[in-house]
Amino acid sequence: MSESCSHDCASCSQDCAARDLRLPANQYSTVKHVIGVVSGKGGVGKSTVTAMLAVAAQAQGFQTAILDADVTGPSIPKMFGLHGRAEGSADGIFPMETKTGIRVMSVNLLLEKEDAPVIWRGPVISGMIQQFWQEVIWGDVDYMFVDMPPGTGDVPLTVFQSLPLDGILVVTTPQELVTLIVKKAYNMAKEMNIPVLGFIENMSWFECPDCKKRHAVFGESKLDGVAAGYGIPVLARLPIDPKNTSLADKGAIELSDTDALKSALDAIEKK
Ligand code: ADP
Repeated sequence: MSESCSHDCASCSQDCAARDLRLPANQYSTVKHVIGVVSGKGGVGKSTVTAMLAVAAQAQGFQTAILDADVTGPSIPKMFGLHGRAEGSADGIFPMETKTGIRVMSVNLLLEKEDAPVIWRGPVISGMIQQFWQEVIWGDVDYMFVDMPPGTGDVPLTVFQSLPLDGILVVTTPQELVTLIVKKAYNMAKEMNIPVLGFIENMSWFECPDCKKRHAVFGESKLDGVAAGYGIPVLARLPIDPKNTSLADKGAIELSDTDALKSALDAIEKK
């Protein structure tokens, strides 16, 4: 912090670690815990894991919400079978509710045509995510999961800076260059004073439906060793499960088996 710090971050150009750029939520929102779900690259199942975590939390009796910050590849509404446009009032925009009552906001619920591509530059996307936080009437929420854009670019940085994240979960697959991803996620979170709560490895194996043998389709995992080096736990491992793909495609992710994510939820609750 500079010696001449006036504590007015809005008018200060210092690149200061103590700089607090977090934004207030909508006046009708009280969100107790905000958990970011990140990945090094797209396609590893980050959105699927986010959706399943929310399903598991809601099933445990927590009022749960998903803020879909993966603005250029939004897939949350489809997984829950949510279509149409979110409604608003003078006080803000109402999130849509899934069949079990999970509150969701995504750019897909605001576009006139949900299949229209989002061809916006970074600052516009960042502004939209801030609006999701400030202008959506989330109400009382115990756990909000933020489906983050993959990587460590501009948009994830905005989420890290402007939302009051309790911590992040990192989704990986055995195939990834896990050392690099762990290092990047760890360093970015550390820079922002946000704890990495743990790793969730997705697509860890495929179980043969006939002989029940497990096959490491994407190779043997190296995550345990790398995670231990950083002192970060591996909270869950999920198999490749064609049932989940099909449920997600049908908009019925709420019917998926989320037992394997129980340990991840326990860790979040104990935090
Ligand atoms: P990301 O958010 O990382 O881009 P998605 O969650 O959209 O990834 O998943 C990419 C694709 O992989 C989707 O079709 C999804 O249904 C499928 N998928 C994700 N996890 C699994 C899994 N454990 N088993 C089978 N299919 C999966």
